[in-house]
Amino acid sequence: MNLRHYVRDIPDYPKKGITFFDITPILSTPKAFRYVIDQLYEKYKDCGADKIVAADARGFIFGAPLALKMGIGFVPIRKPGKLPYKNRCVTYDLEYGSDTLCMHVDAIEQGDKILMIDDLLATGGTAEGMIKLIREAGGEIVGAGFVIQLSFLDGDEVMRAADVKHDFLIG
Ligand code: IMP
Repeated sequence: MNLRHYVRDIPDYPKKGITFFDITPILSTPKAFRYVIDQLYEKYKDCGADKIVAADARGFIFGAPLALKMGIGFVPIRKPGKLPYKNRCVTYDLEYGSDTLCMHVDAIEQGDKILMIDDLLATGGTAEGMIKLIREAGGEIVGAGFVIQLSFLDGDEVMRAADVKHDFLIG
């Protein structure tokens, strides 16, 4: 299957000069959506993860069905003020400014093996924040899977610097 066919390029979104990769055609095409989950499953079925951790919002779309298929737990990471129980948060630097990500304090236990899932790796800023949060909670990251990697940005380097092995379906 040519998965790239189901990713739509939106020029000048969200700002002029940026091309946004819209994954909604994957979601509206069952054979493409199933293919993504099946491919991720094949990559990670033997990775030993106890839990999948994914970030709001598009990470949820791929992370949750994969967790079900793998028979492991799912942990959501969200922006501050969105998760109802006690939160553990990290603030991390971005190229322009900073951002904060949170999870429930009891979502990860010391030594839990974690698989990170997201739709797209761009600058690696989001992934870096997730890694920090997971590690501060005592999780051990066994891998990170992305549907798309934008190879012209620094995500690859960020993952290498953090010593997290990652993979993707479209690069
Ligand atoms: P990064 O933090 O720069 O690596 O950006 C990755 C995060 O931003 C992911 O959580 C994506 O959901 C989102 N993102 C950035 N660019 C795109 C895009 O072109 N399409 C879909 N999501 C994107």
